[in-house]
Amino acid sequence: MSQIDDVIAKVKTVDKNQPEFIEAVTEVLTSLKPTEEKHPEFVKEKIYERIVEPDRIIMFRVVWEDDNHEVQVNRGYRVQFNNAIGPYKGGLRFHPSVNLSIVKFLGFEQIFKNSLTTLPMGGGKGGSDFNPKGKSDREVMRFSYAFMRELFRHIGPDTDVPAGDIGVGAREIGFLYGYYKKIKNEHTGVLTGKGLEYGGSLIRPEATGYGVVYFTSEMLATKGMDLKGKVVAVSGAGNVAQYAIEKAIQLGAKVISVSDSNGAVIDEEGIDAKKLAYIMNLKNVKRGRIREYPTEYPHAKYYEGKSVWDVIRDEGLKVDIVLPCATQNEIHADHAEAFAKSKVIAVVEGANMPSTLDAIHIYKDSGIMFGPAKAANAGGVAVSGLEMSQNSMRLSWTREEVDSKLREIMQKIHKASLEAAAAYGAPGDLLVGANIAGFLKVAKAMLAYGVI
Ligand code: NDP
Repeated sequence: MSQIDDVIAKVKTVDKNQPEFIEAVTEVLTSLKPTEEKHPEFVKEKIYERIVEPDRIIMFRVVWEDDNHEVQVNRGYRVQFNNAIGPYKGGLRFHPSVNLSIVKFLGFEQIFKNSLTTLPMGGGKGGSDFNPKGKSDREVMRFSYAFMRELFRHIGPDTDVPAGDIGVGAREIGFLYGYYKKIKNEHTGVLTGKGLEYGGSLIRPEATGYGVVYFTSEMLATKGMDLKGKVVAVSGAGNVAQYAIEKAIQLGAKVISVSDSNGAVIDEEGIDAKKLAYIMNLKNVKRGRIREYPTEYPHAKYYEGKSVWDVIRDEGLKVDIVLPCATQNEIHADHAEAFAKSKVIAVVEGANMPSTLDAIHIYKDSGIMFGPAKAANAGGVAVSGLEMSQNSMRLSWTREEVDSKLREIMQKIHKASLEAAAAYGAPGDLLVGANIAGFLKVAKAMLAYGVI
């Protein structure tokens, strides 16, 4: 039995109540098996066992007052998973589903993703079970202040630099950063995703979605294809989905779907720039629901209680490219089978871990190209890294400069993943390649530090 099998078995025992973390560890470590033979030093020094144990986990009470002067209590988390190659870096998620398993899985994946970007960033993640939906701006503000009242003592521009994630966008980052600045009396790059007026980077809001589409273009190019005329299905209607749609349209694709946690919209005529502006206003300004889309565009169909993938499965829709941009475990085996039937060319992950392990096996067996999240959606954290550099240098790059750096980073990630896959006996497998390429740099740094 390999040491990796032992470590997976141990995690399944000691973290038995953390299904998402177990899933992520199983996926990553299984694909690292080819490294055991080539690097006996990793086995001897127990790097595999060390890397699944976070440096530390901070859990805290967040108490705040709602608009009715009722006291509300939430739980806050920050998992500082691994800082072997740089300060902890990773988003904050505000969603009722947030628990220890979810922040650990996200923090673990973040280690390898950040390493892949080639920038010096360690892995971390955090958040709270707070639900921003239906809350007033002032309630979100009071919650964000209360959250930062504890978090501030654990983070810093050279220690840990959080960013946004589900439920944490420009509004929340403004409140979090404003409060940090107030209590520390420091204007410093401690959060990324900041507004342009106070230290943010151009292209940061677009970065994850654009990066997913740049990565898709790289994948298609290996088969002599591009996005022009391709039918693209996107899930989600948040930050990642919106900018994935924007870039896909710019590159000539026809995007036919959008969704939120209540249901999915299929617009077979295609979402154009005007319809996308409507979606952005609906979700970002009005904070409305996607079910309203057909009232503006009556030819489109809304499916209450279904995901985009359910509709593709049930209606037998024909799509070429699948871009899941909502949440974890949204694509199951039956969806993947429907993709195979529909002759989907590629699934490229904008969200973190949107495909279950069973679905990934089906992509592989049916020849669907697969762009795993940690490579495909690394554009967001890459531009966060660029935001940190600009903050340190106290200057701002132009839109074109940041966009071209982003594009170059996505190309490098694709190339490094393909090269690692080939070098470790899994040619063309971007999942194996991304995990190995991300892991090697972190593992070598951990070795260099000795037994700590
Ligand atoms: P947002 O909060 O902006 O949008 C999330 C979208 O997904 C919303 O449309 C939301 O619907 C939907 N959604 C959330 N939870 C569920 C659920 N349980 N079932 C169905 N739909 C759901 O988040 P982001 O766009 O920032 O994040 C989306 C994904 O991308 C996440 O997996 C995140 O970790 C990942 N990601 C984000 C990065 C970033 O830079 N923002 C970077 C890398 C990865 P509703 O409006 O109903 O809540």
